[in-house]
Amino acid sequence: MNNIEEIKNRIDIVDLISENVKLRRSGKNYTGFCPFHSNTRTPAFVVWPETGTWRCFGECNEGGDIFRYVMKKEGVDFKQALKILAERAGIELQPLTPQAKQEVERSEVLRKILEEAVIFYRHQLRKTDAGNQAQAYLREKRGINAETEEEWGLGYAPNSWDAISNHFKQKGYAIQDLIDAGLVSERDDGRVYDRFRHRVMIPIRDIYGKMAGFGGRVLDPEDVPKFMNSPQTILFDKSAILFGLDKARKAIRSANQAVIVEGYFDVIVPHQEGFQNIVSPMGTALTEAQMRQLKRFTRQFVMALDPDAAGQKATLRGLEVAREALDREGVPVFNARGYLQYESRLKADLRVSTLPDDLDPDEIVLRDREEWKQIIINARPIIYHVLDTLISGQDIEDPKVKSTIAAQILPLVEDISSPIERDAYRQYIARTLKIDERSLAETTIRKTPRRRATKRGQDSGAARPVIPLSELSSEQEKLERIEQEIIVFLACEPENRYKIDRFLRACELNHLSLADFIHTENQEMIRVIFDSLSQDEMEPVQYIGERIDISDIRTEVSHSPRQEEEKQGISKVRKLEETARLILQIRQISINQELKELRFLQSEQAEMNEEHSNTGNELLMRSAALIKKLKLIQLALNQPINID
Ligand SMILES: [Zn+2]
Repeated sequence: MNNIEEIKNRIDIVDLISENVKLRRSGKNYTGFCPFHSNTRTPAFVVWPETGTWRCFGECNEGGDIFRYVMKKEGVDFKQALKILAERAGIELQPLTPQAKQEVERSEVLRKILEEAVIFYRHQLRKTDAGNQAQAYLREKRGINAETEEEWGLGYAPNSWDAISNHFKQKGYAIQDLIDAGLVSERDDGRVYDRFRHRVMIPIRDIYGKMAGFGGRVLDPEDVPKFMNSPQTILFDKSAILFGLDKARKAIRSANQAVIVEGYFDVIVPHQEGFQNIVSPMGTALTEAQMRQLKRFTRQFVMALDPDAAGQKATLRGLEVAREALDREGVPVFNARGYLQYESRLKADLRVSTLPDDLDPDEIVLRDREEWKQIIINARPIIYHVLDTLISGQDIEDPKVKSTIAAQILPLVEDISSPIERDAYRQYIARTLKIDERSLAETTIRKTPRRRATKRGQDSGAARPVIPLSELSSEQEKLERIEQEIIVFLACEPENRYKIDRFLRACELNHLSLADFIHTENQEMIRVIFDSLSQDEMEPVQYIGERIDISDIRTEVSHSPRQEEEKQGISKVRKLEETARLILQIRQISINQELKELRFLQSEQAEMNEEHSNTGNELLMRSAALIKKLKLIQLALNQPINID
């Protein structure tokens, strides 16, 4: 949704509309003939650059922002309008350039070479003496059967400096192709040699099963490194590939859980034994790109990692990445001062299992399948694991240490969506650190905003300071803020729409509608909320949650600050009444705006000294109707609002 702001910033509404409508400048504003209804007598179409809005005071009697304009003009929905305007704003991705096309073609060539190399290494494994020894190692030492060997395309790279390059040279490939595919390496003097020698070869495929590179494991314990990957190539970006995901994705989805391990055999062997929801970031910490791929299939992750210290550090780094990469849901919270705030919670369940006896996952699975199952079932929520890791080797009697650890662990607690779970964790942390739970709660409230880089590089952290409504400078900002507050409230409790409608009717006012919202993106969200109430497939809140990412709402929202005596928080009814008041307020603001526009149009027509008494009357009647509505709204606002 950030793009919407960016698009609005970049596109000048006057430029946009001028393409189809001859606009006449008048003071700060522009008038013209409405493009949506046939009209050649009076310009009743007004554009307000200051607010980025337009309105037709003629037959259409409607208006909005640039999105609404494009939707109406092109007859498209919001998504398409967004696409059109994004392109215009230069935000949309460009189509393939000739250079990009070339790269795609090059990738195809290199991929073909890698597929060919799989066949070459397989042949070496099965048909040569040295390869047979490697095969025996796989069978006897790693417990890999023939079927698995075939399925994963395991092979053997002969102990030679030029076996693979000779093989490909005979087939007419250029050395440069082999270098680019990562199969041979180049010395400083320009001579080349086979990158993988005397190793078990493991093909690494991308999420779609396309060849990307190889992992090679030593057979001679003296050789280093133990594992060696393809170098970075246009096909192989280690940080963007999860080993095994092409074969695991189905199982991950059906188990609704992904198990993350460290090595290749930790994926292959459990897969053979029936545990197929396993992937590996190939010995490094999880990256954001890897996490993004995974979360398409599940939101539940178990990290099954080595218990050694390095493993734990990697785990912590991996968890940090996971937290950054996973989306959050915005949960509006009323805090003690009566502010409505978003707190973002992770839409994921992260767990860690530590492995016993210095064993790797493949060894445990082979030792006892049931044991592996239990280890995964018993994986602990990350908080316990992180707390243990942070505490180990520290003097937790030291107040400074207590405070540092609390500051590190509390953001993880805040990620959890269930308030009950959060409480339980805080209690646990307080007990472990031997501190008072209340001081822990205070630390939580005063937590520093978490940095979350946005496209514009701004800090849109979860706990940005809330600016009270009364301090917002322009009506426009106020309007936007209020719209968002209403959306947040209704997104959490959509059924309240009916209570609000009953209240509005009692005030002789129209029920809540999309037209109450100026910003098209907000209209779209209200539409989803309304839709949630007219479907019966799922709970309305769930329906909304699947369609709106409230954390995308740009501005932190707040109600106006309340008196000190209301420190206890606000009851649900009060929230409802407050929302009803906000709806009256946005109507008041937009009617005032509309009246201002009307007066402008009237003076405009008077100035042009045109004899169009009919349209003049029309405008007068419209003003009168608006003033009548405004009075009803003011009446309702002047009384205490009682709902329920
Ligand atoms: Zn019109």
